[in-house]
Amino acid sequence: MNSNNQWLDPLYLNSFLDEEEKLIRENTKNYCQKNLLPNVVKNNRNYYFDKDLYKDLGKMGLLGSTVKGYGSPEINKVSYGLIAFELESIDSSYRSAVSVQTSLVCHPIENFGSEEQKEDYLPDLIKGNLIGCFGLTESEAGSDPSSMKTNFVEHEDHYIINGSKNWITNAPIADIFLIWALNEKKDIRLFLIPKNTKGIKTSVIENKTSLKISPTGQIILENVKIPKENIIPNTSGWKSVYSCLNNARYGIAWGVLGSANSCWQISKDYTENRIMFKKPLAKNQLIQKKLAIMQTEISLGLSACLHAGRSMDKGKDLKIAISMLKRNNCKKSIEIVRESRDMMGANGLLEEYHIMRHLVNLETVKTYEGAEDIHALVLGKFQTNMDSF
Ligand code: FAD
Repeated sequence: MNSNNQWLDPLYLNSFLDEEEKLIRENTKNYCQKNLLPNVVKNNRNYYFDKDLYKDLGKMGLLGSTVKGYGSPEINKVSYGLIAFELESIDSSYRSAVSVQTSLVCHPIENFGSEEQKEDYLPDLIKGNLIGCFGLTESEAGSDPSSMKTNFVEHEDHYIINGSKNWITNAPIADIFLIWALNEKKDIRLFLIPKNTKGIKTSVIENKTSLKISPTGQIILENVKIPKENIIPNTSGWKSVYSCLNNARYGIAWGVLGSANSCWQISKDYTENRIMFKKPLAKNQLIQKKLAIMQTEISLGLSACLHAGRSMDKGKDLKIAISMLKRNNCKKSIEIVRESRDMMGANGLLEEYHIMRHLVNLETVKTYEGAEDIHALVLGKFQTNMDSF
């Protein structure tokens, strides 16, 4: 092990963080190491997510943290990225918990909700007293959400919603459901539905092999009647859907590098200590080349995320870059984690080394929030102005 720590940060990325950002990263890291890491293997084995974790995350200032006001710590986008990185260093499920609450629930309420909705819901979502979920995907509407069947009909003083959503993070534990639905004219609108509303039912997807700590489920909506004030009033069509997704994808771009970074470190330690052919594995050129590629991809990915975060904080529209970073960082992270597993031989398969859990989690992260190839098509469309969908 090299005693000079500069090898860990060859691009001096740390020096581009301000004191507040460094403190947020340090506090989140300490929290994750102390509170999440010790039980992650057991929780993953048992598909266990403690709902009260949301209250802890709220106390730590990790929920809805980019919202302006309503009790939020009002951190910038770079800090939000650093939080995602630290949480996903432990498990993608914990980053998902924060991403959904922050980017997919608080973000639309803050940006498209009425003042009353903001006051009623944001403070408790930020504290973790309420848990939210975001229902866009359906069994037959995944990569193409415009083919959704969930629909709403407007009446004088209420709406009636019918349909179903599938693969929804937090559906089994949520207190409020944000549900996207179409009307007869195919206009898309967003509805806020409290969990005890008549006609809404959820079930758990039990047999997941990935993101096992994060509760995922289905939502069935049967003649759900909600008052007019439960529509989120200020959405503007599909642009608003993508505004939520883009925020979440930005966090994912940082987060997956946390998984990759953990696995790189674990396999580096392992190969430095594993004696094979009478010398440490890390003394072999092939192993060193693998370690070099891992560090290069992580450093380049983080550098691009930092640049993207700074640009977003300056108000730039980053949607092209976010597609690029979500896609590329997921792809590179899976490659890094797979390589880590290989370098550790049979031991790389053991749960206590964490690698396989990260690997199967990244299969989800590669798929949700726009699958890898869908982002390639989005990027292709930006370049050519030709829609291949
Ligand atoms: P499909 O759309 O059927 O795609 C299958 C494959 O075909 C993919 O590889 C895709 O890239 C490829 N493909 C599709 N169309 C094309 C094309 N035109 N050209 C080339 N290739 C194509 N959704 C929510 O709304 N809220 C949530 O909270 C949520 N949480 C999730 C949690 C988990 C654990 C998982 C696994 C999913 C979650 N999702 C959620 C759903 C997720 O967003 C969808 O799974 C995703 O959009 C992909 O849809 P699909 O699974 O139906 O795959």
